[in-house]
This record gives sequence, C-alpha cells and structure tokens, in this order.
Amino acid sequence: MLYHIWTVGCQMNKADSERIATALERLGLRPTSDKENADVIVLNSCSVRRSAEDRVLSKLGSLKPLKRARPEMIVALAGCMVGNDIASLREKLPFVDVFLKPQEGDELLRLVIERRSCSPPTFLSAVKDRSGDFEQADGIADCVEEDAQSTSDKLVSEPTRWVPIIYGCDNFCSYCIVPFRRGRERSRSPEDILAEIREMVQRGATEVTLLGQNVDSYGHDLPDKPDLADLLQLVDDVDGLYRVRFLTSHPKDMSDKLIDAVARLPKVCEYINLPVQSGDDTILKAMKRRYTVEEYRNLVRRIRTRIPDVSLSTDLIVGFPGETREQFESSYRLLEEIRFDAVHVAAYSPRPGTAAARLPDDVAAEEKKDRLQRVEELQERVATENNAALLGKIVQVLVEGKNKGKWQGRTRTNKLVFFQSDDNWLGRLALVAIEKTGPWSLQGSETGETRVERAQTPLSIGREGEG
Ligand code: SF4
Repeated sequence: MLYHIWTVGCQMNKADSERIATALERLGLRPTSDKENADVIVLNSCSVRRSAEDRVLSKLGSLKPLKRARPEMIVALAGCMVGNDIASLREKLPFVDVFLKPQEGDELLRLVIERRSCSPPTFLSAVKDRSGDFEQADGIADCVEEDAQSTSDKLVSEPTRWVPIIYGCDNFCSYCIVPFRRGRERSRSPEDILAEIREMVQRGATEVTLLGQNVDSYGHDLPDKPDLADLLQLVDDVDGLYRVRFLTSHPKDMSDKLIDAVARLPKVCEYINLPVQSGDDTILKAMKRRYTVEEYRNLVRRIRTRIPDVSLSTDLIVGFPGETREQFESSYRLLEEIRFDAVHVAAYSPRPGTAAARLPDDVAAEEKKDRLQRVEELQERVATENNAALLGKIVQVLVEGKNKGKWQGRTRTNKLVFFQSDDNWLGRLALVAIEKTGPWSLQGSETGETRVERAQTPLSIGREGEG
C-alpha cells in the first residue's frame, strides 16, 4: 500500500505529519509523491488563517474525482480544521473517510489495519511506540506547505528534525483558534523527549528543534516542574547532536534563566522567534497578549545584552479589528527600531469561535493589503542590510540537502546559505566564506569542516563572523 501526505501550516503540523508517516510505514506502507496512485491520502490541515483553510478545501475538492474512481482509497483530513463538530464536516465532505483530531490518530491506523486484515492491538502499540499520540499544537510562524517525501529516507538521513515537547496552549490570544482546537498545555516528560532525540541522532539527525505553541511554558504541568532551560541543558548533553533550537516563544514567558541557557549552552543556537504581533498597547490588549510594547522592548534589550550575536525574528498581524493607521505606524516604527532578521507578517482574518471574531472586522481589505506590503518592503530592506554585514565572513552551516545542484543549509542564526561542492556534505557542519548576500539567503564557498563537541568547542565556534 502507498500513502501520500500533504501538509499545510506550521512546523508543528510538519512534525505531526512525520509522525503519521512513521506510523503508516511501521504498518508496511510506502510513501508516494503521486496521489493518483496512493491508497491512503492524508491532508494535514491548518485553520490559523482563512487562506490556509481555503487551500485545504481546494485540495480536498481535487481529491473528489480520485475517490469516485477508486472508492477503496482512504482519504483522511487531519489537523486544526478538525474541531469538535465532526458531524458537520462529514456532511460537508462526505468523500472523506476519516477525520483525525490530534488525539485520535488511531482512527486512521485502524482503518488501514482493517483493509489489510492485521491485528489491531499489536499494530497500534507497535506503531505508537515512542511517537506518543498524534496530538499537535499549531502556530502562525514559518508556515509550510509540502507533499510528503519518503519518510524512510528522512528517518535515515534528514539531519534536522522537529520534536514536539508541549502540546496545546493556555493563552487564548483573542484572534487565535489554537487553544480551542488543540486544548490546554500538556508537556511531554524529559525522559520521553530525550529518548526520541537519541533515536533521531542514531538515525542521522544532527539538529533538533523543540516545538511548542508556547514552548517557553514547557514543564509547568509536570511533577518536578522542569522548565525549558532545564530541558535545553539535558538536550545539549546528547552525544552526536550539533545544534538545538526551540519554537515558538511567548514574550511574557521568556525568563532570564532561559536567556542565560541560550547564551551558555554551546549547542543551543542563538536564534529566537519572539512574536510581537503589534507595536501598539491598545491593540496588544485587545489581542490579549499580556505584555506592553515597552516590556517587549526591554526583553529584546535583555536578550541582546546577554547574547550579542543573537538573531531575532517575529510575527506581526496587520489590520486587527480597530487598528488605526496610526496604530499600524507604531508597529512599523517598532520593526524599524528592532531590525529583526525575519518578520512573518499576516493580514488579520477572523477565526470563528475566537473572541476577536465578535469584533467588527473593520479594516478594509485594500488597507490590510497595503499595510502588509509596507511591512514586507521594510523587511526586505532591513534583511538586506543585516545580511550584508556577513559579506566576507566565515559562517558555520549545517547542511540540510541539495537544491538546484547546490548544497543548502542554515547558519546557527537560521540564515539560509548555498554553496557548491562535489563532496557529500549532508548533515555535516561546513565553514562557508560568504561571497554574496541578499535579503533571503547567502551564497559562498566552503572552506572546511567543523564539529561542535561540547567539551572542547569554544562557544564562539558557531557564531557568525568569528570563523
Ligand atoms: S500563544 Fe496565543 S497566538 Fe500563540 S498559540 Fe497560544 S493563543 Fe495562539
């Protein structure tokens, strides 16, 4: 049997798709990029923005004729779009066989097992193994949209892997659907996380990103209340791992202890995604973000003092209900002032069921588009200038794969770098002299290899500009 997974949304969705793929492969299925020939098609959906939902619905629509021609094919809708009202989804999408809420991934496996006449209990325990259940949270940064590649290949050779450490979110930001779809925060135990990471390292991973919708609140619900800084220390000690990242932080929950851990631990990359969402206090209050612009500024100052070479990215919403031109200008000025390395900007769209959806969506579509465009133009200029500072420097790149004949990887500060070489660099740490810079990527020549081994490597080895 062949399976095909299509994923839209954030990195949590991507991680979740990998888990579904792993479970299906443990049942003996093989991946295919050709959905026409697939026996199982999973659409892993996102409902954080209306545009993502629209893409999923259009993708689902394109499956209708396939399902009509091959009724034995299993079509599954997973992810954020599957809320509590499955009955109305069934009515709307009768050709979908199974709707997978994050906690109910077993449904799909049962169906596959039924078709293959296997023994459910054995298979379900075998496939769930260390992957835990299928819960996932969601985010609004770093959206992905992709068809599944061969997960077997990824398990063997993909150097960068995603590791969910906390599911759900307790914050209830007024515009966000995640707490309603993903439930309250649930942390995985450090033992479980470490076991999964060690297994990934054995299979060739050299970088892990610890994921949570609100990753900074990790551990508050566990017996000994370990926090993210404690967990980072444990992960930093895993042999064979070169790098550790974490996503997504909430400004109100980022502690000085966590900042110190990022500054101190050699494998933890100096890259922090810190969504600000607005540069105006009234809008932040209406968003229920629970920090002020000044508190956010102070946090950025503390981070930059403690980690001078840190790279910061942020998320911003434009056109939130009631956002005046002047309030938008405050956001714009904040971006100019902080000069983030990356900004994920989105035009507000109401999500039914959220508190903000009860407010009039009163910023005209054209105005939202204009604000979005201004932010994108500003960010292109800032990123161009930030990246130009790396010209002539040597940076450390963890090589993730090949793209159009060039090796492609990321610096510790999450900048995309391309270089040419006939050697096999996959999963290795290359030192690259930067020869060309642009807003979205850097290009250069490989000058050697390095390794990050905690005991013997000075902290500066991975810092851009010091190679
Ligand atoms: S912190 Fe806010 S925006 Fe992020 S997932 Fe939780 S509720 Fe949504």
